[in-house]
Amino acid sequence: MRYWLCILFLMPFYDAYASMNYQVLVNKNLKQLDVKICSDQKLANKYALGRARASKNIKQLKLHQAINITRNLSLYRGRLYLSDTSVGDCISYQVDLTKYLVDDNKTVLIDNREWLLYPQTMQQLTVKFHFENTKHKISTPWPNSKDNNSDYMLPHYPKNQSSKIVIGNVHLESIIIKNAILEIALIGTNNEKRLSEYIKWIKDTAELLNTHTGLFPQRPVQIILAATGAQREAVPWAEVQRGGGASVHFYVDEFRDINDFYQDWTAVHELSHLYLPNLKTEDLWLSEGLATYYQVVLRAKAKITTSSKGWERLLSGFNRGKRADNGLNLRQTNATQHYYWGGTAYFFMADVALRTHTNQTLFSVMNQFVNCCVNGTSQWTAERFTAKLDLLSHTRIFTELLEKEALSRSFPNVDPVLARLGVSQSFWGRIRIDDDQGHEIRKQIMSP
Ligand SMILES: [Zn+2]
Repeated sequence: MRYWLCILFLMPFYDAYASMNYQVLVNKNLKQLDVKICSDQKLANKYALGRARASKNIKQLKLHQAINITRNLSLYRGRLYLSDTSVGDCISYQVDLTKYLVDDNKTVLIDNREWLLYPQTMQQLTVKFHFENTKHKISTPWPNSKDNNSDYMLPHYPKNQSSKIVIGNVHLESIIIKNAILEIALIGTNNEKRLSEYIKWIKDTAELLNTHTGLFPQRPVQIILAATGAQREAVPWAEVQRGGGASVHFYVDEFRDINDFYQDWTAVHELSHLYLPNLKTEDLWLSEGLATYYQVVLRAKAKITTSSKGWERLLSGFNRGKRADNGLNLRQTNATQHYYWGGTAYFFMADVALRTHTNQTLFSVMNQFVNCCVNGTSQWTAERFTAKLDLLSHTRIFTELLEKEALSRSFPNVDPVLARLGVSQSFWGRIRIDDDQGHEIRKQIMSP
């Protein structure tokens, strides 16, 4: 009995010290990846693609046994089950990349859920890429291995969350903001002047956040910037991805003047998402709320807009949010304006409460959160996240606002808080600022 207990207890540790490695060969015309997965112990028994429908990208899936026998394998709904493997066995497969070629077939932009067979294991996972064309480069969201700079450590994130890699004709540039490293991958343009303008734009935006919040999140960040041709806006689409670490993707109109990018709100908004952890889908209103609140106040603080324009934006956003209100609370609603601006109202009210009752600000509490907790791989609920913010601020502000304003009603009761700061709306919808009321806090929030 004692012998078996020993074995049972040792198993997880044994697995944690073992490692599985992915060797990935990028074919010279970027149409195919050859993947080989081996382990220094036994291979994991279960694997899955992040998306079951990606099974059709996988070809020639095989098990290579150490005793020199090769067996064909097949996926079942995006999953692979192995049994009877021995130390020294490996799996190999090919990935068809033709659907993921962009930029006149010079670059591949692919979601990792479309090709990566992810094992269910405690073993450490490393990935190494090899290139038939030595001019090809790669950008991944994963951290480099400490032992070898060209190896990546594959984090144990939920495999169904999105993350991307870029391979091929990629311009790579690292910028450092204090201890944070932003790895920028630019695709779709080789214009040197434009490339350096984009890099400066990202750097200036990160520095804006660092200056006015007091901290740029100290974490490695992959930034993908893809030129997409003429569009109606400078940045028609951008998003944050969490499936492999922190990643921000910008799709840009490369024909626009660079000043249009500085006037656009998207970069401040997207980089503000980096102050937040990986939240559960139903609580993403917190993520959009903080990024939208930061986007408004930081742009006013940095004088990209005026402070009265900042108040106008908040007020009109709250009005749009209230109009989209469908009787559901912020966790239940899927009306974009409702949860973006409801979340913004939540953080605005928290900021005012902190500034009124303590000597803290939303920036100071969020920065503490970044320092302690932002880099974990687990998903957070609103309850866990707000309890942590309360612990850090030694208050009950975040939990009380969550219960009373976010989850017990459809749109937070933001008007009395605005009124206390002397901000209201005229009968005709114009913003009115009462200079005799709430002057100090109003100035702290929206002025440089
Ligand atoms: Zn957002």
